[in-house]
Amino acid sequence: MALIVQKYGGTSVGSPERIQNVAWRVKRCRDEGNRVIVVVSAMSGETDRLLGLASAVASNAVPREVDVLLSTGEQVTIALLAMALNDIDCPAVSYTGSQVHIRTDSAHNKARIQEIDGDRVLGDLEEGRVVVVAGFQGVDEFGNITTLGRGGSDTTAVALAAALKGDECQIYTDVDGVYTTDPRVEPKARRLDRITFEEMLEMASLGSKVLQIRSVEFAGKFNVPLRVLSSFEDGPGTLITYEDAQMEQALISGIAFNRNEAKLTVTGVPDQPGVAARILTAISDANIEVDMIVQNVAQDATTDFTFTVNRGDFKKALAILESTASALGARQVKGDDKIVKVSLVGVGMRSHAGIASDMFSALAAENINIQMIGTSEIKISVVVDEKYLELAVRTLHSKFGLADEVNAE
Ligand code: ADP
Ligand code: ASP
Ligand code: MG
Repeated sequence: MALIVQKYGGTSVGSPERIQNVAWRVKRCRDEGNRVIVVVSAMSGETDRLLGLASAVASNAVPREVDVLLSTGEQVTIALLAMALNDIDCPAVSYTGSQVHIRTDSAHNKARIQEIDGDRVLGDLEEGRVVVVAGFQGVDEFGNITTLGRGGSDTTAVALAAALKGDECQIYTDVDGVYTTDPRVEPKARRLDRITFEEMLEMASLGSKVLQIRSVEFAGKFNVPLRVLSSFEDGPGTLITYEDAQMEQALISGIAFNRNEAKLTVTGVPDQPGVAARILTAISDANIEVDMIVQNVAQDATTDFTFTVNRGDFKKALAILESTASALGARQVKGDDKIVKVSLVGVGMRSHAGIASDMFSALAAENINIQMIGTSEIKISVVVDEKYLELAVRTLHSKFGLADEVNAE
């Protein structure tokens, strides 16, 4: 009997009717002879609503209490889904993360799963029940409730599939698979039948929120077959898989973008050893993550240093940079929080030259100025003004023929 883990995101459980729709899908999977674990998110908008409440009562809410609050969102959905399942004669039982011992570290708001004790879940499955587990939450070694970061229910599902040796982890969402780019930005985007773990990991980390990064990491590491599908219509979805030598790789498999970026520059810093370290240590001491970094070649013994951070950290980073800059005797600090990062991703890039220049020419032809460039083996990222996001994505989508099936495999 196959063991299937299904995960339904916020939109898929966004109303009582949608929860009933999910219940029918789950029942169908069980009636086909599978053992089924279902992981659900909070109903759409609920996590944001709860965060709003937190900031209404506290300017700097204690992370531990934020987790206690946020975990209630998923707790509502598991109970409702288990009720809806029992109502259609599909025996089901719901559990919070801590009830099934999803043990995490103590990093509130971004905890990592360390182990899962699946005995209780296996016992229920053995007795023919569907097990409904709250996504996005766990418990640390001291019994504190933790959460896994936005989009974390994907990771709960993959972790359960890995721990219990599930035959497939199915992520049901409001699109019918992984597309060449976000179909909300480029309607001509095409669903991919397969994408490699490596590419999916790049896409997720470059801003495609269809899967949480950690869920892809986990699935790759523990070899969990992972599929993204629609919760509203039947279809094959997208399988995330290992690179297949038989398969002719597309040059570019997708375009990711991140609207959540801001850029900071300090000009006229002394060109001396240790300067970059001083600038960035002050930033990381404040728990701010830095993404892209560019330092120019020195002129007149001084240089310019630019980096990007999450938009939410922009003001804090700017204040820190201003004080470091004056300590270093730098000329000026500049900031811009109206920028975005657009990236081309594809394992086929490894063996092809000229992708970067094609990318830059296509953007230039549309008069889009490139502010920063970053590359790795399978991606090229550019930072551009946010007003060009849609134009840049669509231009590159067409330039690299991503809408055409021929380029696909
Ligand atoms: P859920 O609530 O089910 O977890 P998310 O909103 O987290 O759903 O993820 C699904 C959304 O991801 C889609 O609605 C789509 O707008 C967005 N998305 C971004 N990039 C892609 C992509 N390359 N392919 C498919 N969807 C994408
Ligand atoms: N409810 C959480 C969020 O909105 C987790 C999830 O949906 O995966 O981020
Ligand atoms: Mg999600």
